[in-house]
Amino acid sequence: MKKIWLSSPHMGGNEISYVQQAFETNWIAPLGPNVDAFEQLLQNIVSIKHAAALSSGTAAMHLALELLGVKYGDHVFCQSFTFAASANPIVYQGAIPVFIDSEFDTWNMDPNLLISALEEAKSIGNLPKVIIAVDLYGMPAKILEIIGIANEYGIPVIEDAAEALGSKIDNNPCGGFGDFGVLSFNGNKIITTSGGGALLSQNAEMIEKARFLATQARDSAPHYQHSHIGYNYRMSNVLAGIGRGQLEFLNDRVNARRANFEKYVHYFSKWNSSGFSIQFQDEPQGYYSNRWLTCILVDPISNNGLTREVIRLSLEKDNIESRPLWKPMHQQPIFAESKAYLNGVSDKLFEEGLCMPSGSNLTDQEFDRIFECLDHIFAIYQNK
Ligand SMILES: *Cc1c(COP(=O)(O)O)cnc(C)c1O
Repeated sequence: MKKIWLSSPHMGGNEISYVQQAFETNWIAPLGPNVDAFEQLLQNIVSIKHAAALSSGTAAMHLALELLGVKYGDHVFCQSFTFAASANPIVYQGAIPVFIDSEFDTWNMDPNLLISALEEAKSIGNLPKVIIAVDLYGMPAKILEIIGIANEYGIPVIEDAAEALGSKIDNNPCGGFGDFGVLSFNGNKIITTSGGGALLSQNAEMIEKARFLATQARDSAPHYQHSHIGYNYRMSNVLAGIGRGQLEFLNDRVNARRANFEKYVHYFSKWNSSGFSIQFQDEPQGYYSNRWLTCILVDPISNNGLTREVIRLSLEKDNIESRPLWKPMHQQPIFAESKAYLNGVSDKLFEEGLCMPSGSNLTDQEFDRIFECLDHIFAIYQNK
């Protein structure tokens, strides 16, 4: 049986013609017309003045920290419940990550816990240089509250919207809320350039500096002259061609992923009305998630002992990929020594959560296979 993936690339059809244009015009370089057009499209979609297309979301996060002046020994507050790429660039800068737990409404950074952490940091004269909030699985964080709190302390905010292109709060697009927004176009994201990212900001000077740093920080001189340490972080014009084709279908991809979520909700309602209690990541009022991945929570106490791991292993046996939710950073061996402000939320989400196959290209037949496998497991546990 063919493998059903968690989230696989979904081409629209025009990608190849933009790639072909790059070949025909010999723009096989980390700049060119596809890069310019891709950046312009991103600016329109996120309603942001400036976007720099980069080699990855991780590179975008790294440049954002560098541009906000994060240096050796500085503290940076980061959402604990995320992918390691949100936090690793803090360490690239020689800075010290401090992790903040989530709340249950959005599964993202808890504004109340953030206040406690800031108050404690302030009392010892050690406020963070930057706060990193994440829109996990496409669900917007309580970013307006977080920015309001950060403003009171004069601390800039980076919005890690790597998973949230197409998501919104009250019609305002994710990626555009903070001092910087970070996007990713990795192969598993809602749209892909096979690998890539973007740094977003309303600040022209900052994005100009980002481009400078991302192209080896070459001073303007006929010879190679450097007065800064630079990086090689720009996006290839070939890959930006894939991105142009992908963005033409962003709305369709969001609609397809939101439809996937509804299919799962509908499917599990059958079991929830016969003794089970499978939970979802609900949208607060005014929030609009791209539903990058549909996640379920399986509390064994309210599900006859059924666990997310039983479900994951059964799906795996049928060649269906599912994954536990992100393991929080405060539980990761690499960050074992890091300070963390915890409330138990992300621990519970990790323990009980499972990401279901959520690609925008899943077929009805594939959903039938997934539901058939689930039917089997739930039928067994119903009689336990
Ligand atoms: C994918 C992802 C990133 C990193 O993006 P890459 O393009 O893979 O470097 C950062 N943060 C989050 C939350 C992500 O999911």
